[in-house]
Amino acid sequence: MTAVIQHGANLMNDLKDEFTHKLRHNRVNNSREYFCKGTSSPKKRKLTEPKSPEVKKERCSSPAGKSTSALRTPRAPPKGSKFVGAHTSIAGGLYKAVLDATQLGAKAFGMFLKSQRQWKAKELDDNTAELFKKTLKDYGFSPGMVLPHGSYLLNCGSPNEDTLRKSRETLVDELRRCEKLGLPLYNFHPGSTCGKIATQKSVELIAESINEAHRNTKFVITVIENMSCQGNTLGGKFEELRDIIELVEDKSRVGVCIDTCHAFAAGYDLALQSGFDKMMDDLKNIIGLKYLKAVHLNDSKGKVGCHLDRHENIGKGQIGVEGFRRLMRHQVFNNIPMILETPPGFSYEKEIQKLYSLI
Ligand SMILES: [Zn+2]
Ligand SMILES: [Zn+2]
Repeated sequence: MTAVIQHGANLMNDLKDEFTHKLRHNRVNNSREYFCKGTSSPKKRKLTEPKSPEVKKERCSSPAGKSTSALRTPRAPPKGSKFVGAHTSIAGGLYKAVLDATQLGAKAFGMFLKSQRQWKAKELDDNTAELFKKTLKDYGFSPGMVLPHGSYLLNCGSPNEDTLRKSRETLVDELRRCEKLGLPLYNFHPGSTCGKIATQKSVELIAESINEAHRNTKFVITVIENMSCQGNTLGGKFEELRDIIELVEDKSRVGVCIDTCHAFAAGYDLALQSGFDKMMDDLKNIIGLKYLKAVHLNDSKGKVGCHLDRHENIGKGQIGVEGFRRLMRHQVFNNIPMILETPPGFSYEKEIQKLYSLI
């Protein structure tokens, strides 16, 4: 009996640890989604249901970083081949994410594939997938500029057998959804040891989860996100990302996504040129630039090295505008999705414009 109670208590602690980070993320993203929905003007809503091909064409050819108003003056695409966008809402259907991104003047976007709070979700039917693919094409987005975000429930390095099994099933399910949508990238948080197992053991579990998912799917690249070293989460140190990649059998199907807030909180002082250089050197020497597949653009509420995962609007946090200018001007970040996951208080549209103005 005592053992059972103890086991239950351990399980609760595991879950608590795993969910601390996830809940924080959920809060940010849900409130942002609510914010976006809540502040959509009637005019913008009308734009989401285009009637004529001309309207679509106007918005397709529009440069990112500009108002979605049909009356704006066209200008040349932003220099440097940067593809900046934001996390979008799938409320009302997956294709709505494309419309949301278009309204924001985004050239790339992030999205969940299903509700991020439930393990199970109804199957992705053919009509939903086809509508998404058609909308993506109609609005001129390349599938490679969409960065689906994995469920926050995932812990592919969990010491808990049940959590690990469910995470592995969900990983396969989500990769299959990406393939059905024709999307080549899938971004997820590596996981946590929950303080119960050695980092190396968790690294091995994550790599095996990825290998298993690769065996059960065809082409999607699993993009592992760097984390902030908060609690027992893995991936705050670039060495941990390297160690996971080393154990992945199909190297052509694994990559990394660098989250600027997480990198800053993990110790890279992106507010300074020296900190930026250090991160770039480590990215090159520890992980390898060929694995860089995406960026999450977030300023940080917490100080450098604080290990806290607290996103802030661009230029309003500890990284600051100059930190993002360095990023926006660096060629390594050309032609990959750069996605905002910042809190409400500033519109994504304005943040995208601000980032393009830094080039
Ligand atoms: Zn992120
Ligand atoms: Zn975060």
